[in-house]
Amino acid sequence: MRIVYVNGDYLPETEAKVSIFDRGFLMADGVYEVTSVLGGKLIDFDGHAVRLERSLRELDMKMPMAKDALLEVHRELVRLNGIDEGMIYLQITRGAPGDRDFVFPDPETTAPTVVLFTQNKPGLADSPAAKKGMRVISIEDIRWGRRDIKTVQLLYPSMGKMMAKKAGADDAWMVQDGFVTEGTSNNAYIVKGNKIITRALSNDILHGITRAAVLRFAREAQMEVEERNFTLDEAKAADEAFITSASTFVMPVVEIDGVSLGDGTPGRVAPRLREIYLEESRKAAV
Ligand code: PMP
Repeated sequence: MRIVYVNGDYLPETEAKVSIFDRGFLMADGVYEVTSVLGGKLIDFDGHAVRLERSLRELDMKMPMAKDALLEVHRELVRLNGIDEGMIYLQITRGAPGDRDFVFPDPETTAPTVVLFTQNKPGLADSPAAKKGMRVISIEDIRWGRRDIKTVQLLYPSMGKMMAKKAGADDAWMVQDGFVTEGTSNNAYIVKGNKIITRALSNDILHGITRAAVLRFAREAQMEVEERNFTLDEAKAADEAFITSASTFVMPVVEIDGVSLGDGTPGRVAPRLREIYLEESRKAAV
């Protein structure tokens, strides 16, 4: 049975409990991170810890423990659950004040709820989907205006995945004023000629940890990167497209709204970036 972490304790998943008054449960008042594990080691832990601290700060919450202690909890869960390839999910909510109230509880008397669990995914890196490429549909981006904060408010992304599934596709790209913002749970890119184009960082998108690493590797490999808005039409006319996220790394996109990109197979750039990302991330894993 899976061993999970709740507020300082390591417990079998069936014994782990969170209050019904938890603000994460009642109000989606919480943030999360997903860190990948490859070869039993954590990918880009530092990046995720820094973003976590920022998400918490933006919501007037504090890191419940030092970064080193958080790393130890991640490592202990990997060890206890024998994870070679998979993910660690972490969630911190504003805690359970003992009743329902819109007003934030006093952090002196209401401690945050800290939960971490592992997701075992053998074969995560050697994914068949990466060889085939994904098909996406476009949907309107109707999320709130602080998408840079990684909150657990994931209803619309979840609905987006269901719309994609119903349409026989793998995922959805969200569009605002004609411009692609991001995927339901990933950042979106197109390739035109030798240029990699992706939306610039702002409150409109999550500042992907994988995005930062992939753009750095692309530039180091002398690839041209342009951080700007791109339209859905531009995407459909692109040579290639791809997504990035902690759990999918780099994944080629071969079709948008039924329109094939290039010859409808993963192009040149995305598979190469995936290779570089996996190689470099494994080297730097902790
Ligand atoms: N955008 C959204 C909306 C996401 O949910 C995610 C993944 N959680 C990403 C982008 C990718 O971020 P990362 O590379 O840090 O996983």
